[in-house]
Amino acid sequence: MADMGICACPGCENNVTSENGAFREGQAYCCNGCAAGHPEGMDCLDPECPCNELNRPPAGEEVREEPSEDQF
Ligand SMILES: [Zn+2]
Ligand SMILES: [Zn+2]
Repeated sequence: MADMGICACPGCENNVTSENGAFREGQAYCCNGCAAGHPEGMDCLDPECPCNELNRPPAGEEVREEPSEDQF
């Protein structure tokens, strides 16, 4: 197995493995979450990786479900 180096995701220090690695725009990432830029709900392969925090959208911008007025 070839060594593909460190994940290109900012803040991520995981090694890219052929098993979980993903490639995007010529860069190698350790996982699909990193390769996709950590969209909502997608964490790094390593849940404690600092890149999870670094790439998380700012708090307070989450889409809230508007309260419905269903009357039961
Ligand atoms: Zn990564
Ligand atoms: Zn990442």
